[in-house]
Amino acid sequence: MREGTAFDRKCIAVFCGSASGDHYDYKSAAFSVGEILAEAGHKVVYGGGHVGLMGAVADGCLNAGGQITGVMPHALVEREIAHQGLSDLVVVENMHERKAEMARRADAFLVLPGGSGTLEEFFEQWTWGQIGYHQKPIGLINLNGYFDALLAMINQMVLSGFLSETHRRMLVHRKDVGEILDVFAHYKPPSIKGYVHD
Ligand code: AMP
Repeated sequence: MREGTAFDRKCIAVFCGSASGDHYDYKSAAFSVGEILAEAGHKVVYGGGHVGLMGAVADGCLNAGGQITGVMPHALVEREIAHQGLSDLVVVENMHERKAEMARRADAFLVLPGGSGTLEEFFEQWTWGQIGYHQKPIGLINLNGYFDALLAMINQMVLSGFLSETHRRMLVHRKDVGEILDVFAHYKPPSIKGYVHD
């Protein structure tokens, strides 16, 4: 277990794709993320599926002896095929409850490559952090430069005056999850005054 950071034994929500991506080995990288979180003593909460990167994170976490909770609406339990080996599977009514339950349990959010569902989950938590609904850090694990285009768009938001520099700085983005956890240990949420743009 990593020693000496103030960011120990937390519950980390992981948002990631229900698909596995293309040529780059996103799946093995996601497996490693699950392992690293477990080895660092963190619990994980995620969407509960066994498919794609979601399943890989769960497998990695379980392989390292970690605790991982899935949260899944009952309508998705069969379609996304709930992971059978989880420490806990919480079945909820709908997507809104799923996201609220994951957010409630989490001390921080990590985002791996994924599709529209992943980005929706990311944007929701980033937005909620901006308006002070939570003070939890958010990290993008930028595997294979997957988030470069998104980060460019976020820069454009600042340049065009639609996003404050303070709110851009809330986001940590690195390829390496260990580096993100180190930054999380020193995370300072923006003051709500920071919501005022000018
Ligand atoms: P995706 O990144 O699209 O593969 O989706 C990743 C996860 O997000 C899956 O568990 C999806 O069920 C979930 N998801 C898909 N669409 C939405 C949505 N509109 N809001 C919240 N979660 C979603």
